Amino acid sequence: MRLFDMHCDTLYECSIGGYSLSENELQLDLTRGLAYNSWAQVFAVWMPDTLRGNAAWIQCRSILELAQKETILNPKFRIIYNEADLDFAIQNNVCAAVLAVEGGSALAGNLETLGLLASMGVKIITLTWNGSNELGHGCESLCNDGLTEFGKKAIKAMEKLNIIPDVSHLNQAGFWDVMENTNNPIIASHSVSAAICDHPRNLTDDQFKAIMKRGGVVGLNLCESHLGEQSFECLQKHLEHYLSLGGEHTVAFGCDFDGTDLPPEWGGIEVMEKIYEYFQRKNYEESLLDRLFFGNCYDFFHSALTSTASMV
Ligand SMILES: [Zn+2]
Repeated sequence: MRLFDMHCDTLYECSIGGYSLSENELQLDLTRGLAYNSWAQVFAVWMPDTLRGNAAWIQCRSILELAQKETILNPKFRIIYNEADLDFAIQNNVCAAVLAVEGGSALAGNLETLGLLASMGVKIITLTWNGSNELGHGCESLCNDGLTEFGKKAIKAMEKLNIIPDVSHLNQAGFWDVMENTNNPIIASHSVSAAICDHPRNLTDDQFKAIMKRGGVVGLNLCESHLGEQSFECLQKHLEHYLSLGGEHTVAFGCDFDGTDLPPEWGGIEVMEKIYEYFQRKNYEESLLDRLFFGNCYDFFHSALTSTASMV
């Protein structure tokens, strides 16, 4: 099977804990990921809500530099700057690493930071984490306001740099402000359905349909509190609901490896094969499964990636 996963926090864990990305005891490493026939992985730099201003930017930059170093150490890890990089990595059994920043606090309130992030290969910015930042308010911030004026400017600047807005973690008003302030596709990298489990992190049907209409993608995550119950059966309920809304070209995975606790028997990224086999046993067509586990993200990112020159 092929895997394109839209969210993990492994880079942060490696940076803070001093683990190797190649091989570690976290939920994801390159050795286990490369066991799949093709593997593309969004690596997010998680920005804690306790970090703001220049300290946020400095931490973000140092974790992105860790990713840059990995490309030098390990020919099996390739940062994806454009669609040609993506195809090269996929065809050569190399990890296709799409870089993301999970929390717009990394901008430190300065639009010029966006250009630096783009030059380091960042393709996705999750606008907030759970709290408030300079751009807007997270779904657990207790603030119902939409994006700030700076947040709206950031969305427009991201559009010019072809950085994709990620609305996972954002509050409702912020979500609709994003839709109003860009015409580009957006993603919810790791968000399951509020119709199945009423959790503020989950997407309402209207949000899912709005992302779908724009040609974006939505990643199912494996987080217990978002799913309602951490089981393959429950994951299937969220998938089925999204499919019932017409999402067969929209749904993907953004598992949140190293960002959420998993049952010990799931381990980490290797659980995706078990989930794939579970869906096979449930008689899902192979072509649909390949779309969910790989193809929907591949198609989306292939067209969303810019022609920014490869630095490799
Ligand atoms: Zn997250």
